[in-house]
Amino acid sequence: MLLGPPGAGKGTQAQILAGALGVPAISTGDIFRANVSGGTPLGLEAKVFMDAGDLVPDAITVAMVKDRLAEADAAGGFLLDGFPRTIAQAEQLAVSLTELGHGLDRVLEFVVDEEELVARLSTRVVEVDGKQVQREDDKPETVRRRLEVYREQTAPLSGFYEAEGLLARVDAMGPVEEVTARAMAALGQPQTAGQPGAV
Ligand code: AMP
Repeated sequence: MLLGPPGAGKGTQAQILAGALGVPAISTGDIFRANVSGGTPLGLEAKVFMDAGDLVPDAITVAMVKDRLAEADAAGGFLLDGFPRTIAQAEQLAVSLTELGHGLDRVLEFVVDEEELVARLSTRVVEVDGKQVQREDDKPETVRRRLEVYREQTAPLSGFYEAEGLLARVDAMGPVEEVTARAMAALGQPQTAGQPGAV
């Protein structure tokens, strides 16, 4: 599982690490965004919270992840990006994993300084339908709210997983490849690893 504030590079690293580990990267933000662009009822419900920089309510998010974890490609392991984001979600995740016969191997907390986060997010562009655009929730006022939400609701997960002996802190400043190398080392994986396992 990858833990860290918005802009820490979780999405980028999730893709690289999941590829190296041979497991799917499961990003709740990506699933919500796909639902928003598809205009599904879940997307319409989530959009209001996302645009405000707030968290989508736990009940909606937990049910969505539970379904995703039960899909066939997650049977051999997976990497979670952006979930859980509250203690309640973490507790529900533990229940779902027990039901599925899985456990968490490691939680990587990406550590970055806040000035760097604001700079990264305000200049970030993403591709939507072939066009380079700024995410609605990367606007400065929404970024501030997302960082506040992170500090209040998500940062406590660091202590939660530290108490379970699962936490490894990773310096997420610097070039992407260097962060990947630190993350792989924290997972106890050689750079060319291909074996599955839940992270
Ligand atoms: P992300 O792409 O991870 O930055 O997520 C974008 C937005 O999706 C967040 O600001 C939340 O509004 C929503 N979101 C993503 N993951 C979660 C989660 N685990 N719990 C609640 N809301 C979430």
